[in-house]
Amino acid sequence: MTDKIERIKCLIIGSGPAGYTAAIYAARADMHPVIYTGMEPGGQLTTTTEVDNFPGYPNGIDGPAMMIDLQQQAERFGTKVRIGMVTDVELSKEPGGIHKACVDNATWVEAETVIISTGATAKYLGLPSEQRLRGGGVSACAVCDGFFYKNQEVAIVGGGDTAAEEATYLANICKKVTMLVRGDEMRASKAMQHRVTSTKNIDLRYNTQVDEVLGEQVVEGLRMVNNKSGEKETIEITGLFIAIGHKPNTEIFKGQLDMDSMGYLITKGKSTKTNLPGVFASGDVQDKEYRQAITAAGTGCMAALDAERYLSTIEKTEEKEVTTN
Ligand code: NDP
Repeated sequence: MTDKIERIKCLIIGSGPAGYTAAIYAARADMHPVIYTGMEPGGQLTTTTEVDNFPGYPNGIDGPAMMIDLQQQAERFGTKVRIGMVTDVELSKEPGGIHKACVDNATWVEAETVIISTGATAKYLGLPSEQRLRGGGVSACAVCDGFFYKNQEVAIVGGGDTAAEEATYLANICKKVTMLVRGDEMRASKAMQHRVTSTKNIDLRYNTQVDEVLGEQVVEGLRMVNNKSGEKETIEITGLFIAIGHKPNTEIFKGQLDMDSMGYLITKGKSTKTNLPGVFASGDVQDKEYRQAITAAGTGCMAALDAERYLSTIEKTEEKEVTTN
């Protein structure tokens, strides 16, 4: 006897603000969404402490608490939230085709539409002291956490556009920003480099890397090393921002969905449509530019609307075929 494969109308992969917002809209449109949460239910926000910039929370909200709110809101309209990791997909190329997804390397499900909200993962240096102090002063998002270091001294690692942008953002809030660039030049655009070098309270250090983050419970300082001279220096800081890039979580879609050179999913125009019919992408997995909870939530809403319109077009085509046959 073979087990019947479950058929889902709207499969949502990933449970950050994009996934849950897509679920709220899809559930309210009677698309009976099923979310597979992934390894980190709630997504990147569960590793943040306070979220102060999501509209609607005048006193801020704890990241994990906000994700529970979003989950409950999605469940209120009938979303099925399942703990599980989608480990493989077989996406159909045909309009109206059925997509397949494998959960936890074990169970296959079928889906009429798929919304991919698998997010992106911030890269870290990998030092034990850095990992220990994540959430205790080490952050990968200056826009999210910079405010907590108002008038304090902080450091930022990286020499790309993100690091340059975040360094100037932090310089507006903090007393001093020490910027560590590992090479002898920055990768950021000339305009961004100019902004950094013309900001008085950014202390730019080339050929400099983190040797050790200091502090037991919270960041108290940073030992830096000049990778040319080997010279070490310790500075007092309360916050360390890592801005060395993100990695979109798109491994399982390689060879099936169009991606840019960095692995971000490509969506068509202002929509969330991927190159395959019935497959949509929302949140950080398709956005290397803004990467905010609110922008992710916005594209989650768009993905559900795009999926709903897609299904109604397919249903109309099928009805037409039945009448003409
Ligand atoms: P990038 O990959 O462009 O830059 C990463 C930076 O981190 C580089 O300076 C790199 O150094 C450094 N780095 C990497 N690993 C380490 C490490 N282990 N230790 C120390 N330093 C390290 O990432 P971004 O996030 O900056 O940008 C991603 C993309 O998004 C880019 O295309 C960028 O242009 C774009 N973007 C555009 C913005 C805008 O236009 N406003 C804003 C933000 C991003 P090295 O150079 O030596 O490799």
